[in-house]
Amino acid sequence: MTATALAGRARRYDSARVRADFPIFERQVNGRPLTYLDSAASAQRPRAVIAAVDHYETHLHANVHRGVHALSQEATAAYEGARERVRRFLNARSTKEIIFTRGTTEAINLVANAFARPRLGSGDEIVLTRLEHHANIVPWQMAAAATGATLRVAPIDERGELRFDEFSALLTPRTRLVATAHVSNALGTVLPVARIVAAAHARGIPVLLDGAQAVPHGGADVQALGCDFYAFSGHKIYGPTGIGVLYGREALLREMPPWQGGGDMILSVSFEGTTYNDLPWKFEAGTPNISGAIGLAAAIEYLDSIGPAAVRAHEQQLLATATAALQQLPGLRVIGTAAEKAAVLSFTIDGIHPHDLGTILDHEGVAIRTGHHCAMPVMDFFGLAATARASFGCYNDLTDIDRLVAALHKAHEVFG
Ligand code: PMP
Repeated sequence: MTATALAGRARRYDSARVRADFPIFERQVNGRPLTYLDSAASAQRPRAVIAAVDHYETHLHANVHRGVHALSQEATAAYEGARERVRRFLNARSTKEIIFTRGTTEAINLVANAFARPRLGSGDEIVLTRLEHHANIVPWQMAAAATGATLRVAPIDERGELRFDEFSALLTPRTRLVATAHVSNALGTVLPVARIVAAAHARGIPVLLDGAQAVPHGGADVQALGCDFYAFSGHKIYGPTGIGVLYGREALLREMPPWQGGGDMILSVSFEGTTYNDLPWKFEAGTPNISGAIGLAAAIEYLDSIGPAAVRAHEQQLLATATAALQQLPGLRVIGTAAEKAAVLSFTIDGIHPHDLGTILDHEGVAIRTGHHCAMPVMDFFGLAATARASFGCYNDLTDIDRLVAALHKAHEVFG
């Protein structure tokens, strides 16, 4: 049965209309219509985001927080308005808790430098999971190396699920922080973050969630999650690159020293000393990515206009359909079969290197990701150097799955 034939099972979701909002699909790749299955690496932008950035650049640009002149005030209002939009999206209590960063990576580095390092000493531990992206490993390794702390890594099973009991057993009086993905980028596993937060908080341990792969598939409610820090990137939720967010619990952010010094993060400076700015600006040294923040707010508005729950349901349908279709292909092995997954499908095919697969698919206009996905410990666990990964966004539909399957058949012909 083709994916299109399975359409009867799909919920009503107007993917054609959604797709029409994304001008990238007007172009062809290698003479074929674009089948974009790499949204987990970076999602495409709708016209609304492109227009919001263009409007800012054309009509509003000036530096923020500085000028008394009209443009500066309008730019400041738009930038701070974007912060309020993010606050509502995450259901944070206050805009003081929303810090703009370059992305998830910088948000995690901020916490590693300003929260973890001052608190860590020899014998202290940070607990991670085996599922982490390098962005949620390396900053902690650097903090540990500088302070004498150590990292403890909670294991996963063959399905790519966290071994929760073993994770819990790692929480001890020495644990200073738990830092874990909300959703694994390599496998799609949705981690049991509510249980993780509850187990850590029962021992007084703060929790950082890396939401880079979770937010695009239905948003996040930081109050419901109860986490202390939450990080995500604009470009994975249909916004611009170079902008992201760190949510931090206000009480913790207040205690933290700034991690970068410069303009905007101060109230007054003299050679005798400096008084730092209030939250959230204490953590935003220098001229920020103003257009990025505005574009991010437009992306959130766009996602909200389709409805995060509808997007999630649509993507789950695509994931189920694609998984069923791919499993019929000879020699294909799905890597990551957790009970709860976001719309990310990692796989290998016997006898075909993932990079060759990626190249052949590209000739067919099908963009997938191949490699270690910046999650080498996950690849090691499965004894692999690389996988092929198809990931789905709000603009994908069953035709994309048909094209993926057809291109995989072609790869079989070439290598078979
Ligand atoms: N964490 C996860 C789970 C990711 O998927 C990514 C991006 N691939 C990152 C962190 C890093 O995000 P960025 O490169 O946007 O900072």
